[in-house]
Amino acid sequence: MTDHASSPHAGPNFVAQMIAEQIRTGEHAGEVITRFPPEPNGYLHIGHAKSICLNFGLAERFGGRCRLRFDDTNPEKENQEYIDAIQADVRWLGFEWDGAVRFTSDYFDTLYDYALHLIENGDAYVDELSSEQARAYRGDWNTPGKNSPYRDRSVAENLAAFEKMRTGAFAEGQAALRAKIDMASGNMNLRDPIIYRIRHASHHQTGDAWCIYPSYDFAHGQSDAIEGVTHSICTLEFEDHRPLYDWFLDHLPVPARPVQTEFGRLNLNYTITSKRKLKRLVDERIVDGWDDPRMPTISGIRRRGYTPAAIRGFCQTIGVSRSDGVIDASVLEAAVRDDLNHAAARAMCVMDPLKLVLTNVDADTVEQLSAPGHPNRDDLPERHLPFTREIYIEREDFREQANKKYKRLVLGKKVRLRNAYVITANDIVTDDAGEIIEVHCTYDPDTLGDNPADGIKPKGVIHWVSASHGKQALVREYDRLFAAPHPGRGAGDFLDDLNPASLTVHRGCWIEPGLADVTPETRVQFERIGYFVTDRYDHAPGAPVFNRVVALRDTWGKIDADRA
Ligand code: ATP
Ligand code: MG
Repeated sequence: MTDHASSPHAGPNFVAQMIAEQIRTGEHAGEVITRFPPEPNGYLHIGHAKSICLNFGLAERFGGRCRLRFDDTNPEKENQEYIDAIQADVRWLGFEWDGAVRFTSDYFDTLYDYALHLIENGDAYVDELSSEQARAYRGDWNTPGKNSPYRDRSVAENLAAFEKMRTGAFAEGQAALRAKIDMASGNMNLRDPIIYRIRHASHHQTGDAWCIYPSYDFAHGQSDAIEGVTHSICTLEFEDHRPLYDWFLDHLPVPARPVQTEFGRLNLNYTITSKRKLKRLVDERIVDGWDDPRMPTISGIRRRGYTPAAIRGFCQTIGVSRSDGVIDASVLEAAVRDDLNHAAARAMCVMDPLKLVLTNVDADTVEQLSAPGHPNRDDLPERHLPFTREIYIEREDFREQANKKYKRLVLGKKVRLRNAYVITANDIVTDDAGEIIEVHCTYDPDTLGDNPADGIKPKGVIHWVSASHGKQALVREYDRLFAAPHPGRGAGDFLDDLNPASLTVHRGCWIEPGLADVTPETRVQFERIGYFVTDRYDHAPGAPVFNRVVALRDTWGKIDADRA
């Protein structure tokens, strides 16, 4: 993988600067071990891409290692589908983790021993307050909490009660193991946090071996320590948890001491980066699954036609800082335009066809014209464009009358067909309703790559496809899923801000014949329209289905400017 560190578009990355300094001063003996620690309770989204690029990127840059660990402490919300999807997404982004996939559940035995260790040292107790009582005892920002009446149980009593928890003698919520820290702490996370709770649930990795599960806070830092992670990188909301993680490390016989560094989450406007909300979109069937091309999930963005390089480039551009911010959706869209402008071959597609009859071409004539695969890459194959008597152009590219600003085909005037000849529109044919169904034209055979002999140069160039030799395609025009920059901001539900026009399906589009047989996930630029990809699942050679990745130009910028 290339290191983008020297890219002129790379934003600052304070974590990389910090590690470079640590290496310079001999800290960590130069060793850098990071991890990406998702909970398998949903698909990864674009926010996770930032964390993946950061963790894997640091390991690459400093000759270290990055692991993939599933923080799987909530059996009811997690499942194998998510585990598989997350691995596929990380690999698709272009990263490979060090060694086998790891699971926090691999350490359930050790974590259980750690819990016993705390109990034996008088640092943890089994509480039997109900959850309402526990809430009342906890206090709030202004009021210190009160000690639970169970807080001063003896070690023996606690060991016995914890054993009862482990063997399933308690119902869920009847008891919990809590760290004995400080109920009056100004940091709520230190008010005797729960470290083990009862869940009578099967776990996707450990089956029915356990009915007690460690809390995320108790598992996360210790798992990093067990794995010898040197740099525990996480998002800012965990800053207030760091004193708790340090307390655990101080009170447990852990084999190593990871150091946590927090960075600002990625927030993108016009979208949401919360698995919980994304799951609602899926569960309420507002979108067609986690990988719907409108979803900000990695698998959705992939189906939409984004490339791994575009996403990595985007993460480079935005950089890594110590504060949260909102990135404009146009920055991500610009990243994919940048990438596809170079990567995608050119092609022609007529989305809303109007038939043109070239009356000076014979019905059985097929002239094979050719066109470059790309304007400035000669490694892409030339395209073959059959030029025939009947062709299609976009309905919006013809008018009976127009002023000078309209640089397309007008009755009685000329236009150039892209990669082909100059034509003149002579006549129209209408149906009973007065709608134009055909335009009769003549072509000028001397104009392939040349201007007309009469010296009158047509102002416009329009795209076209042979009506007899082109192929039909279904084209799905995707747009942003939300119409508001901050979905759900204000009183409403985030679903109130959905963009009603996030998907427009165009049936009966016409594509140049060479495109009908491409494989799924082939990206092209439909000239004058935008970037498109053949759908990963729904496209088949001979039955083409294209998704719009992004329009050629940003149209939302103006909407935002008007809104401001
Ligand atoms: P969500 O809020 O969507 O549920 P999460 O933080 O609970 O996300 P995890 O599975 O715990 O999801 O995330 C794995 C890693 O990805 C964590 O280290 C987390 O900090 C990081 N991460 C999650 N969301 C973002 C984001 N928007 N920007 C940067 N990193 C993120
Ligand atoms: Mg989380």
